[in-house]
Amino acid sequence: MVSVGELRLPGGNLAELPELDEVALLAGLQQRFLRQQIYTDIGDILVAMNPFQPLSLYGREVSERYQNYGTGTLPPHIFAVASRAYHAMLGRGGGSPRGQSIVISGESGAGKTESTKLLLQHIMNLSKGNLQLEQQILQVNLLLEAFGNAQTVMNDNSSRFGKYIELHFQKNTVRGAKLSEYLLEKSRVVHQDTGERNFHIFYYMFAGLSSEEKEMYGLLDPSLYRYIGGQFCTWDVAQRWKHKYQEVCNALDRVGFQEQEQVDMQAILAGVLSLGNVTFQPEESNGSVKVSEASRGWLKAAAGQFGVQEDELLKCLICTTSVTRGEQIQRFHTQHQAQDARDSIAKEAYSRVFGWIICKVNELLAENVDPEVELREIGILDIFGFENFAVNSFEQLCINLANEQLQHFFNHHIFQLEQAAYKEEELPWENITFSNNEPILNLLLAKPLGLLSLLDEQSAFPRATDKTFVDKLNSSFKGNVHFQPSQGRVLGFSIIHYAGKVQYTAGGFLEKNRDTLPANIRGLFINSVTPLVTVLFTATVSRTGTLMPHVKAKVIPGADEKFNSTRKQSAGAQFRHSLMVLMERLYSANPHFVRCIKPNSRKEPGVVDSQVVLLQLRYNGLLETIHIRRRGFSWRPSFEEFAERYRILLVKPDVSLTKESCLEILQSTELAHWMCGKSRLFFKYWHQEQLAKYVERLERAA
Ligand code: ADP
Ligand code: MG
Repeated sequence: MVSVGELRLPGGNLAELPELDEVALLAGLQQRFLRQQIYTDIGDILVAMNPFQPLSLYGREVSERYQNYGTGTLPPHIFAVASRAYHAMLGRGGGSPRGQSIVISGESGAGKTESTKLLLQHIMNLSKGNLQLEQQILQVNLLLEAFGNAQTVMNDNSSRFGKYIELHFQKNTVRGAKLSEYLLEKSRVVHQDTGERNFHIFYYMFAGLSSEEKEMYGLLDPSLYRYIGGQFCTWDVAQRWKHKYQEVCNALDRVGFQEQEQVDMQAILAGVLSLGNVTFQPEESNGSVKVSEASRGWLKAAAGQFGVQEDELLKCLICTTSVTRGEQIQRFHTQHQAQDARDSIAKEAYSRVFGWIICKVNELLAENVDPEVELREIGILDIFGFENFAVNSFEQLCINLANEQLQHFFNHHIFQLEQAAYKEEELPWENITFSNNEPILNLLLAKPLGLLSLLDEQSAFPRATDKTFVDKLNSSFKGNVHFQPSQGRVLGFSIIHYAGKVQYTAGGFLEKNRDTLPANIRGLFINSVTPLVTVLFTATVSRTGTLMPHVKAKVIPGADEKFNSTRKQSAGAQFRHSLMVLMERLYSANPHFVRCIKPNSRKEPGVVDSQVVLLQLRYNGLLETIHIRRRGFSWRPSFEEFAERYRILLVKPDVSLTKESCLEILQSTELAHWMCGKSRLFFKYWHQEQLAKYVERLERAA
C-alpha cells in the first residue's frame, strides 16, 4: 500500500505518478482532495472530485489567472479546461482551429452540472464583447434547472435530463447558443419515489405566486395535490423557493419570453396538477368508468387551465373514440386505463412545455452572424452517468446505452486513434489493451437484430406483451456473453455493460417504447383557447430526447387528421436518433474530457470513501488512461503545421515547412522525449507549454 505521504505531485498531474496502479491513483486523488485540491490532471484529462461544500476557487481573480493559453503552470482547474477549449477553437497552441467539445461524465451527484456552469461562466468571461448574449446564456441554466431538475436521493438538485450546449463563435466573440435535450424523465411528473420530489418549478410556483395570482391560475393549497405528494416544506425552504421563483421569472424576461407566454405556461402547469387529482370509479350499471364525484371539481379546474371543454376532456379520459367507415365507435376505458390516460396527458403536457422552453431559448439565442466570418463551436455535454438501481427499466436502458456510446467514443479517442497513429507513423510502440465495448453496442443497436430493433418490432405488434418481448430476446441473444436471461421469477433480462452487470425489469418496456397518447387528446388541445396549448400540441414537438424544430404558432387546418395519420416514432427510435446526431458532432470535434467523481455517497465534505471512488475510477477507465497518457504523445502536429507555427524560433528568414526545419527548430530548444514519425511529430502533453515559453521569451526580447 502506498502511503499518502510518499506521493509528490507538484504539478497536480497524475500521469507523473511514479507508481501506476489503482492504489496509487486513489491515494493521489485522496491526498489532493483532503487538501481541498479537488482538481487533478491525468495527462490532459481533468478529474474533478465533488467537494460538497462551497470553495473559494471560482472568483473573478481566479478566472483572470486562467485566461491565457499557457495555463499549464497553474494548478489543474475546471477553468483551465475552458481556456484550453477556447484557445484551441481559436487555433492557438499549435493546433488548427476547429470545433471543440467538452465531455463531462460521472454518476448522479458527482458534479457534472456544476462543472458545466463553471465552464460556461469562464468561457463567457473569455468571450469578448457581446455582454447581453453572454448574460442570457448564463440565465438559461436557471430555467433549465427549474424545469428539468428535482430533488432525488442522490442529489438535491439532480438534472433529470441530459443536455448538449453548443456555443457558436465568430473570432473570439460568442454569437449564439443552441441546446439539445435528451430524455427528460417525464414519469417524475406523475410519480416520485420516497425521499424524492417533483420538478422544482411546481414548488417554486406555490412559494412565489401571490394569493391573487394563485387564484387566477386556480391553484389551491399545495398539500392538496397528489402529483406533488401532498408534501410541502418548512418556512426557510419556502423562502428559498420564493427567491428561486423570482429568479426564474427574471430569467424568463431576460431571455425574452413574452408575458402572455409565461402566464399560459403557468396555467398549463396548474392544469397538470389539477388533472393529477382526478380519480375514477367504476360505473355500476354498464362496466365503464366515471370520474369520482369528489374529483369533479378537479376535472373542471384542469379543463379551465388547459383552455378546453370539460366534457371533451372527460371523454379523452374515460373512453377511446375511433371512426371506422364513417361510423363513430366509442370504447370505454377500464379504471386502470383511465388512470393511465390521465397520467400520460400530464406527462405529455409537461414534457412539451419543457421542449418548448428549449426550442424558444434556441430561437432567442440563435446567432446574429457576419456571413463573411467562419463560425466555430464549443460544445459542452452534461449527460446522466451510468445507472444501476434496485429496479431498472426502459429509462435506465437508454441512459446506459448513452454511456456505452460515450465510453466507446472515449476509447476511440484515447486508445484507438492514438495507437493507430503510432503504427501508421512507424513509431516503436507496444499496444496497450483496453476493454472495447463494441460488442455491447452491437447487442443494443444492431439492425435488425439488436435489442432496440427487437423492441420496436414487438411494439408495432398489437398482441405482443412484455413477456413475448423477453422471449424474443432470450432466443435472439442465446449465448451472447453480454446478455443473460433473467434467473429469478421477475420478467426481465440482464446486460453485462462495460461498467458492470445491470438487471432490467421488462414490465412496461413495450408501453414506454410505444409512448402513446390518448387518441383524441391532440385534437382537443390544438383547439384550446389558450394559445400556448395550441402551439405545444400543433407542431411535431419534441418527444423524449428529440430536438424540436421551430414551432409556429399557427393552427394547421385539419391538423387532427394529420397527427393521427403520421405514424409516430417509438421512444427508443427517437432516442437512438438523437444519440446518433450527438455522436456525429462529438466525433467531428476535438474533445476535452472532464471526469467527475463523487468522493462518498453521503454528500459529506472532506470524506473519501475508497470503495465508492475506486468503483468510479474503474467505470471511467481512468487507470488505463494514465498508462497511455504517460507513454503516449497527445499532441501530434504535421511537419508543416509545426514549422509554420514555430519557425520564428529560428530567427532567420525563409524557413521551409519541412521535416528538416522542424528538427532544426527542436534542436534549438531543450525539449526532450519527443519523437519524429514519417509525416508528423509526436509530443507529450506538456511540450506545448514549453514551446509557448520559448516563443514568449523571444517575443519579450523583440
Ligand atoms: P450531477 O450533475 O453530476 O448530478 P451536480 O453538479 O448537480 O451533480 O452536483 C451535486 C451537488 O454537489 C451540487 O448541488 C453542489 O451542492 C455540489 N457540488 C458539485 N460541484 C461542486 C463544486 N465544484 N463546488 C461546490 N459544490 C459542488
Ligand atoms: Mg446534473
